[in-house]
Amino acid sequence: MSQSNEYVVLGAGITGLYTAYCLINEAKVSPHHITVIGEHLPGDGSINYTSPRAGGNFSCITPDDDDTLEFDKYTYTHLEDLQNNIGGASKGIDHRQTTEYWDVYPGDKKINSLKSYLKKLKVIPNVQLPAGVAYGIKYTTWNFFCPFYIQSIAKYLRSKGVTFIKRKLTHISQAYLPRTKVVFNCTGLGSFSISGVKDSNVYPTRGQVLVVHAPHIQENRMRWGEDYATYIIPRPHSNGQLVLGGFLQKDNWTGDTTLEQSKDIIKRTTTLMPEILDHPLDILAVSAGLRPSRYGGTRIDVQRIDGKLLIHNYGASGHGFQAGLGMAHRAVRLLLKEQQLSPKL
Ligand SMILES: Cc1cc2nc3c(=O)[nH]c(=O)nc-3n(C[C@H](O)[C@H](O)[C@H](O)COP(=O)(O)OP(=O)(O)OC[C@H]3O[C@@H](n4cnc5c(N)ncnc54)[C@H](O)[C@@H]3O)c2cc1C
Repeated sequence: MSQSNEYVVLGAGITGLYTAYCLINEAKVSPHHITVIGEHLPGDGSINYTSPRAGGNFSCITPDDDDTLEFDKYTYTHLEDLQNNIGGASKGIDHRQTTEYWDVYPGDKKINSLKSYLKKLKVIPNVQLPAGVAYGIKYTTWNFFCPFYIQSIAKYLRSKGVTFIKRKLTHISQAYLPRTKVVFNCTGLGSFSISGVKDSNVYPTRGQVLVVHAPHIQENRMRWGEDYATYIIPRPHSNGQLVLGGFLQKDNWTGDTTLEQSKDIIKRTTTLMPEILDHPLDILAVSAGLRPSRYGGTRIDVQRIDGKLLIHNYGASGHGFQAGLGMAHRAVRLLLKEQQLSPKL
């Protein structure tokens, strides 16, 4: 089948990949009509490319506004189809058990939403909570081997007929190729600087993580404090990689890592899960990443440029993997609505 560029997804992080996936599987767009453009593509590494640097799992990191609760729920409950479509758990997405502790109760709105869909959810009795913890839950979560998982989704999209172009754009209008009817802007932090968007509400939330070799740890453990986040996240089907974190530093653009932060991460994670030290700590990598945050939250809306559609889908902050399928679903529904109003689109 001949290629065309009717649908362009700008950005090949998890947000852009989920968007291309939903175009095919929800909007029934022919993959041969979809082009993904990105300065960085799955397999690349850069501080300006957040997705390969993520933890990553489904957790309670997200805020409790109605949109984000919906994005989390949609993603959690629809990832199994995606997992099957891309070839199963070995492609870097699988279930694992998790325990989450809060120093301050997260609120009924959040907890009631989680109770409506999380598998095997149990509230931990107060007497079993560690010192200083106000509330805790256990449930079955999703874990992602992020750098490999995004390559698996890209491989699936390519096998269906999606075209990938590696290119840095300086203006959003450059995303309109001959015959392009709609562009999805999934540039993450790039939306801060790309002309035609230049969203000054976009800012980074810096994180630092250690990746260690610890095949004996196969479950997640998270602790949320008022001014810190400590997490232990196994990467599924990764030959025993375990992610230890972390930091949530607002408006910090630094891609460097520090020894001081690494030591702090080791101290906090091994206190939370002493079993990590049942074997000598084998550090494989230390990395920093910039979560694409946005004042006002995720932006998913429609704009018109010279009569053509521009659908924004960015600002996933610390939850692109766990909420991004719901965000993509919303963005693609906006397209379908516009197409109903203007059937030529
Ligand atoms: C330490 C850390 C831990 C995390 N843990 C988790 C977790 O456990 N669970 C979870 O759900 N999330 C987690 N996240 C958050 C997650 O990584 C992000 O939400 C997600 O990666 C954002 O994806 P994105 O596609 O929006 O952006 P990105 O992955 O940054 O992709 C942006 C894309 O746009 C392209 N682009 C940008 N500007 C241009 C331009 N001008 N021209 C061409 N292309 C351009 C880039 O090249 C890239 O392809 C974590 C993040 C960090 C840093």
